[in-house]
Amino acid sequence: MAKALKFGGTSMANADSIRKVRDIILADSDARYVVVSAPGKREPSDTKVTDMLIAFYGESNEERRRTRLSEIAARFDAIIDGLGLDLDLSAEYEDLISGEESGSYDYVVSRGEYLSAKILAKLLGYEFVDAAEIIRFGADGRLDDDFTQSLASDRLRVAMRAVIPGFYGLSAEGKVKTFSRGGSDVSGAIVAKAIGASVYENWTDVDGFMVCDPRKVKNPRIIEMLTYRELRELAYMGASVLHPEAVFPVNKSGIPINIRNTFNPTAKGTMIVCYEDLESGKYKRGEHVITGIAGKKDFVGIFIQKEMMNSEIGFCKTLLDVLCERNIRLEHMPTGIDTVTLIIDPAGVTDSVLEETIMDIRERCHPNTIEVHKGLSLIAVVGHGMMSTKGTASRVCGSLYNADVNIRMIDQGSSEMNIIIAVENEDYDKSIAALYNEFVK
Ligand code: ASP
Repeated sequence: MAKALKFGGTSMANADSIRKVRDIILADSDARYVVVSAPGKREPSDTKVTDMLIAFYGESNEERRRTRLSEIAARFDAIIDGLGLDLDLSAEYEDLISGEESGSYDYVVSRGEYLSAKILAKLLGYEFVDAAEIIRFGADGRLDDDFTQSLASDRLRVAMRAVIPGFYGLSAEGKVKTFSRGGSDVSGAIVAKAIGASVYENWTDVDGFMVCDPRKVKNPRIIEMLTYRELRELAYMGASVLHPEAVFPVNKSGIPINIRNTFNPTAKGTMIVCYEDLESGKYKRGEHVITGIAGKKDFVGIFIQKEMMNSEIGFCKTLLDVLCERNIRLEHMPTGIDTVTLIIDPAGVTDSVLEETIMDIRERCHPNTIEVHKGLSLIAVVGHGMMSTKGTASRVCGSLYNADVNIRMIDQGSSEMNIIIAVENEDYDKSIAALYNEFVK
């Protein structure tokens, strides 16, 4: 059964890495549909081709524009030479200056993927299928899923083996339009769904999805298998390997995603599967309570107390109205009998809006006390395993107590697959380490 493979920017960065890509593809006869990113960074201080294209587009000085273009051309030509290919892209470079769509930001920025796919198609002897042929956005600017799926499956059915540029498609007006950054992941998922792939292999530069942030714990374990639901919880809390929109097309069709490392292809990577397939035994994983730990800093807590709050009808509704009217995002709202805590995401909320909000709550809800606490971190401990295991919350609390961390809030989702805790920002790192040591090490 055919597979869809997507190779990210580091995999496509230079001739050496592209040779690894070629070897991976040619070693697998099912590897028939390949989606690629633009060349990314060759080393940490390098610039991604997409960023070079963005800078080129924004350059108004004609001479500097030419210089930027020749730097982009040099990146591709070095790859072509390094691979020993007989391929001349000079007309394509010139098109960026004088082509019909050279005035379009999306068109210019999409050319990194376009040229990257041209090169890989030539190297493999695969057909080049332009993303403009198979991906369509609607008039509202969002992906037109149904139209895209019918275009993509019709077109790819007649291509035995194809390389497709990631990151873009065509707008309702027929112009090239890109996804948000990292969007080649979405293109890969679209292709996987269109061909009814057995698996969507997403090749990157890490061995898989890590149990927690490697900046907080040295060499954390790689998650061998996680469900789409667990991924959603962890990704929401900032753990990211995939573009968030890449999940929907494949999740709905029950296609698993396998995160793999181009630079360590023997590593099995991380499998992302549907919960139902795990439940039914189609996929099996080792027994564990916790699948992953992720967190984010800098939330704001509004702690409210009012006598007899529990018997006051509409109290919480008024609180939510106050937030809603100011476009403030509520993350959590744990309640006691006479207390409620609002944990909010302060992104875009200025100090004066926050002050106004507090004043409004005072006027409309008449609390006995209201306190604002900035600098809270939220940490999510995620795993279906905790549904059937007693004592998880006690272990969370115990391990944080032993690490001398004060828990400011604790909340267990009704799905019973996550426990969210709030701690002070300065306790964030040691909390992650304590939870990792308790559940994973
Ligand atoms: N090249 C684009 C970016 O850097 C898209 C992608 O790589 O997925 O965001």
